[in-house]
Amino acid sequence: MKHETFDIHYPPIQLGCEKTSILYFDTIQELTEKLKENTSNALIVTDDVVFHLPSLKDFFAGIPTETCLVLPAGEKYKTIETVLSILERAMKLSLTRKSLFVGIGGGVITDLLAFAASIFKRGARLELVPTTLLAMVDAAIGGKTGCDFKGYKNSLGTFYPASKLYISPEFIQSQSEDEFRSGLAEVFKTGLLFSEKLVLLMQDEKDALLNRDQRLLMNIIKRCAQAKAQVVEKDLTEKNIRMWLNLGHTFAHALETVLGLGTISHGEAVAWGISRAIALSESIGLCAAEYREEVFSMLKAYNWSTDKIHPKCIELKIENCSEKLIEAMKQDKKNIDSNISFVLQRGINDSIIEKISEDKIRSILS
Ligand code: NAD
Repeated sequence: MKHETFDIHYPPIQLGCEKTSILYFDTIQELTEKLKENTSNALIVTDDVVFHLPSLKDFFAGIPTETCLVLPAGEKYKTIETVLSILERAMKLSLTRKSLFVGIGGGVITDLLAFAASIFKRGARLELVPTTLLAMVDAAIGGKTGCDFKGYKNSLGTFYPASKLYISPEFIQSQSEDEFRSGLAEVFKTGLLFSEKLVLLMQDEKDALLNRDQRLLMNIIKRCAQAKAQVVEKDLTEKNIRMWLNLGHTFAHALETVLGLGTISHGEAVAWGISRAIALSESIGLCAAEYREEVFSMLKAYNWSTDKIHPKCIELKIENCSEKLIEAMKQDKKNIDSNISFVLQRGINDSIIEKISEDKIRSILS
């Protein structure tokens, strides 16, 4: 049948803002002083743990109750219902697309609030104050937003970068040990992908880092931000090199799904996932055994599991763990066909994406 085709061509879409400015502060006091300057009509969203941090008491005390939405903390609440509750509050306050949404919290809050801001009246203004190491070095940077859905991590979402990030490493002092180490796993990932210097810092300054030395943390956060900036400036919407940032994540997301979301921290899952990705790289002849050993020895130095089966699966007596993990990986939204893709490494700062057969995957999980 004869038919005509007419194409409509679009200008590049501007995702919320032209650039993200990262403002670094030595202290939380300095950060909140600056934040207060333009948040008088903003919708502020946080979680109930961050809301009660002594370091933010004065800041929150100065905000009218109705413009501050305090959500329950934790991955469990990273749901579409929570996104809707943010949107309902925004509607109740008669906000417009010119209004400012400010998210203060860890990666759950920054992901959720950014998602809500991106769909509210097709995009409100967005600024973020990441308060966990993980959110400072990863989640809040680069515009990925979202929530979990039907048990799958981040299955709903958009790309919508914040116009400003306010960062102070002082927030990290009040993080639990587990949550802090979770952020360190993302730092390690960033180092393996883009910055040998970061890996060396983690190796040489391990004690100072584990003691949360603030100058060292600032140095590390800035290096991670620079590394992530270089990636998202080239590939914001994850068409190519941004996919590398998923090193360890295909395994990690599957593990989190199999264990039940929130059972172990995201970073703990990522660290184990990195061990599996490097083991897989070695098993298909991509990297040398020496490289796998170097990565494993760093993971072990930080007390992360490099076992084929994560100890939590054994503790929770999960049967057929490897099959369940493979099933969960097949559902991963990044697999555009039935093959499972992985970020693998030939060596440090040398990554590629490969589709791998189920048998090969099984061999490094059991
Ligand atoms: P989180 O937001 O759940 O924070 C962890 C816990 O720490 C929460 O209970 C929180 O209330 C508490 N907390 C926050 N700041 C604190 C502080 N300063 N002191 C004490 N406690 C504090 O989790 P997270 O580890 O920050 O982030 C994990 C989330 O980030 C996951 O949902 C993950 O999918 C997402 N993520 C997103 C991206 C992205 O590119 N968008 C990248 C990596 C991770």
